[in-house]
Parts: sequence; C-alpha cells; structure tokens
Amino acid sequence: MNAVMNTYARFPLTLVRGEGARVWDDAGNCYLDFISGIAVDTLGHAHPKMTEALSAQAATMLHCSNLFHIPKQKQLAEKLCRASGLDAAFFCNSGAEANEAAIKLARKYFHDQGSTRRTVITATQSFHGRLLSTLTATGQDKVKIGFDPLPAGFVHVPLNDLDALKEVISSQTAAILLEPLQGEGGVNIADAAYLQAVRKLCDEHGILLMLDEVQTGIGRCGTMFAFEQAGIKPDILTLAKGLGGGVPIGAMLATDAAAASFGPGTHGSTFGGNPLSCTAALTVLDVLEEESLLENVNARGEQLMQGLKALQPRFPVIREVRGQGLLIGVELSVESAPFIAGARERGLLVLAAGPNVLRLLPPLNVTEAEVDEALVTLITVMENAQ
Ligand code: PMP
Repeated sequence: MNAVMNTYARFPLTLVRGEGARVWDDAGNCYLDFISGIAVDTLGHAHPKMTEALSAQAATMLHCSNLFHIPKQKQLAEKLCRASGLDAAFFCNSGAEANEAAIKLARKYFHDQGSTRRTVITATQSFHGRLLSTLTATGQDKVKIGFDPLPAGFVHVPLNDLDALKEVISSQTAAILLEPLQGEGGVNIADAAYLQAVRKLCDEHGILLMLDEVQTGIGRCGTMFAFEQAGIKPDILTLAKGLGGGVPIGAMLATDAAAASFGPGTHGSTFGGNPLSCTAALTVLDVLEEESLLENVNARGEQLMQGLKALQPRFPVIREVRGQGLLIGVELSVESAPFIAGARERGLLVLAAGPNVLRLLPPLNVTEAEVDEALVTLITVMENAQ
C-alpha cells in the first residue's frame, strides 16, 4: 500500500512547522522558504492575525451551505470587486476550479445571446490547472498525456505574438485566457503593449478577455493584480493561491454583463466561499493594507532582482533574471535541478519553473535581512556549481 498517491515528485523533506518566511523539518532543520507554498503563503507561515481570525471563525461556524446568505462571502466579494473594478464574484476552492468557472461562464454568456461562439484561446507555455477543461486550456502538452478525449474548443498561440493571435481569432472565439505573467511556464511576462493590444482586439471582436491571476494576483507582482501594470481591465478574472494565505479558496470575478449568465442552478461548489475560507481571504486583504505589503513587495522585489542581476557577470550560468515584484525567475543555461538541491542543502527552498528556470516566491512580508540571506546562499550554490 502506497497510501498517498504518487502524483508529486517530492523534495526529500518533511516539513512540520512554519513561522514567517521560515519552515522547519521533522529533524529540526530550519529553511528559508522562497517557495512559500507556490505563491500561497501571502502573509508567511503562522501570521498571528491569521491564526487568531481562523480560530475565532472556527469557534463560530466552519461551513455554511450556499443555500443561505454568508456575510463574510458578501464582504469579500465587495472588497475584491472594488479592488479589481469588476462587478461580481463566484467562489470555489482552487485555481483550476476558478478557471473552469471562467470557461463555463464565457460559453454560457454567448449561449445566452444565441451565439455559437465557444472557443477559448490561450497561450503556449500557459498553466491553468489540472481539471480536464483547464489542462486542455493549458499550453503545455506534458499535462495532457493520457487524459484524452479532451474537451473541444481550445486553441493555443505563442505569448506576446499579436499576429499569431489575430490569425486564430474567428467568428467562434468566445474568450482569450492569459496569465499576465506565466508562473509555471518559466516566469514569462506578457508585455504591457501586448496586453493592451489584446484588450483592444477583444473589444473590437466582442471577445471576453479572461486573466488568470491565480499565481500573480493579491500583491505578488507588486500591484494588487498584475493587470494593473498594463493599465487594462479584464472581463473575467481568476484568483486562488495567495488569496487564502494558506487556506483553500478560489474566486472568479466578472463584469455584471457576463455574470448575468450565472443564474441559480447554473454552477456551484459545496465549499465555495465558506466562512472559514472567506475569513482567511479577508485577513489577507486586511493585513496587506495594514502592513503596507505592496510597498514591501516592491522594495524586496527590487532588492532581490538587483541582487540576482549583480551575480550575472560573476556566474555566466545565469542567462536572465526576470519577473515582477516577488515572483522572480532566474533562467540558467543548464538544468535547474542541481541548483535547487544545492540551495535546499544550504537551507534555502526555491522552486523550478520549467527545466532551467529557478523561481523565487517568498512571502509578501519577507524582510530585507531574509532576502540578503537568500542571496548569500545562492552565491554559495553558484560557486559550488562552477
Ligand atoms: N492557474 C495558474 C496560473 C497556476 O499557477 C495554477 C497553479 N500552479 C493554477 C491555475 C491551478 O491552481 P490550483 O492548483 O489551485 O488548481
């Protein structure tokens, strides 16, 4: 008996406790966590406000069926709508579910208009989740192998290539779904000019623009949502990961015009928007403001980016350093796996994004000293790899 299914290539570590940007394994070793639950632990591990808010909510009510009104769900929806400029939110439990809801809403929106438009265009190298719909939307073949037949109606085009996009737009295009910055795909930034042009194309053709900010949203890139940096607004936005600060929650936000197609009985999720998850998300939003975390993301992001760029002349193995805020990729000219293992052996947890990119995503409240410590460790790792 394997007990836990073998779906993950796990690091040889058992983590048992966390505090801020640090985690401890079962042997008592401490690590600086620059993986941070892959953009999940917005406030770091065991933030006292989160612990307190969750304990208080757990003692009051853990779950409430969506057959009833849930005050914290409404409060959270209002806050997210105000922050994003969108009008209505649907809550679920993960990023994949949020994207599934977005795809369903786009199709239903055109169905309700008597239109046959159903196709969703996404980017190659994109990642949108592991459900049948979202792995089909994902622009990486490796997640699809063995899972056919896959749902119809998905087309992929290279990111930042406007001509390629124009070529595939047709009378059947319902939506374009993009990550403003591809996390899993290798920390690839969608150019602001590209996003602006895509917004314009969507307006001209009556296509819905859907942005997947599951990894980039809630301050990770230095603004509440990464799309703000391009000065555009999507019609549909998906969030998860950092929104819950460690507690599962996903959200799909939309304009009123699109949201009108999700009437009672059209879509749902038993746990979606339960009081505990909404408490976690409200706490994340509160602390983000109270502790001026966006400022910290920008300051620490700059420190990390400049620190890494300064290593480039010394270590030619570093091909490029890129990213936004505290989502930074270091592209190497070789495989990243030995560097990831080397960092771990020296007490620093970093992640891969594709075969040759190191991905750094510390908590949004990481300190100056912790960023310095991570840079010093990375220097040792690079020195030892030479
Ligand atoms: N979209 C993006 C951009 C992601 O990075 C991820 C997770 N890596 C997902 C969707 C899927 O999220 P989840 O694992 O919560 O389903």
